[in-house]
Amino acid sequence: MNTEQFYPLFLKSNKVTIDSRKIEKDDIFFAFSGENFNAATLADKAVEDGALAVIVEQKDFENKDKNIFYVPSTLQFLQDLAVFHRSKLQIPIIGLTGSNGKTTTKELIHAVLSEKYKVQYTVGNLNNHIGVPLTILSIKPEHEMAVIEMGANHQKEIELLCTISQPDYGYITNFGKAHLEGFGGFEGVIKGKSELYDFLKNHHRTIIVNENDNIQVEKTENYEHTITFGKESSEYYYESFSADHCVGLIYHETKMLSKLTGEYNFTNLCAAASLGLHFGVDIEKIKNAVEKYTPTNMRSQIVKKEGKTLVLDTYNANPSSMTASLNNFITFEGSKTIIIGDMLELGEESAKEHQNILQLAHDLGFDEIITVGKHFKNVNSSTNSFENTAELIDYLKLNKIQSDNILLKASRGISLEKAAEFI
Ligand code: ATP
Ligand code: MG
Repeated sequence: MNTEQFYPLFLKSNKVTIDSRKIEKDDIFFAFSGENFNAATLADKAVEDGALAVIVEQKDFENKDKNIFYVPSTLQFLQDLAVFHRSKLQIPIIGLTGSNGKTTTKELIHAVLSEKYKVQYTVGNLNNHIGVPLTILSIKPEHEMAVIEMGANHQKEIELLCTISQPDYGYITNFGKAHLEGFGGFEGVIKGKSELYDFLKNHHRTIIVNENDNIQVEKTENYEHTITFGKESSEYYYESFSADHCVGLIYHETKMLSKLTGEYNFTNLCAAASLGLHFGVDIEKIKNAVEKYTPTNMRSQIVKKEGKTLVLDTYNANPSSMTASLNNFITFEGSKTIIIGDMLELGEESAKEHQNILQLAHDLGFDEIITVGKHFKNVNSSTNSFENTAELIDYLKLNKIQSDNILLKASRGISLEKAAEFI
């Protein structure tokens, strides 16, 4: 069976899922198999649960009477089906990648464009070779636009995701020191992320450029299809302001204050506002979207607790976002404690990068510095260095942090959010 033959059935479906527990009536279930798990054994059950069709990669389980179809690779078929569906769609698709801020920017763009259009977008962080096709397949006839987050930790990944999603517009949030291991250093990151630019240029499509980012400027030099922001000479220019630790922007006479903290979010907001303006969303509506948007849990989230201000940023961390976060936090008024956890996946650079961050923290002069994780422990000989979050929690149970402001930031794997309730 090929994608074209299958497509009419897809058009009748409710949604596509790879999770057997989430099957609803008229869904298509792609039975992915893991090492210890043969999902095809769930095919009959999926049909009983209401699945319209099931795709399996074990021939024995095929049963065409029940719409259980065999393909050599479920992953390949999922991607092919997405490519075919994309080719039938006449709507603009905005593709996003970058080291930091993809999800935040994606959600902001969605919030802004939704003021005028019906917009489909990546759910949560489903930004890989499975998530992107699933998002494409979730685009229905009523949608007028889509925003697709594309994540990568090695070369050629963005290229593949572009082939699947065929973006008409693209934005790279930033080039940072994330996934250095897989990309092969910072130069590798630039090359890998720039696969989005390569695709857009090859197809004469539009690049959104932050003109304050030298790499973005350099990479798009002499390219004519751009939407620019960042400088007074850019197509769109915003001034920044802040109130109560939140970032705001001013466009001409319109002042809008977001609920996001961190200077880096100014850039994320500018990108979203520029796309809104480009697509003809009224500035008052953009303001409404910017002011309403509340970040999802643990991404630059501000929590007030017993008169203290907690900044929870435990969703992820790498040298760039850690630096941005520390530089932002030092501007908070009152005493400041930082609890920083390991930045994972840094490969060879790891020890040096942890050392640099610790040095930066000392140079900025926080009142108290606490580190969590083995990588920091290797470079931090102070007593305020814990092997893991559990050790930190034991400490917090006995020692109350006195500072007015407390920052928690670490890679996801450190589970630092668990410590928040003990502060
Ligand atoms: P992932 O790779 O996990 O998908 P992401 O790129 O989607 O991450 P977000 O989830 O939006 O990124 O943000 C994660 C963290 O990155 C934020 O909490 C913040 O600390 C930092 N961050 C957000 N935007 C930027 C930016 N423009 N520049 C640098 N750091 C940023
Ligand atoms: Mg993300």
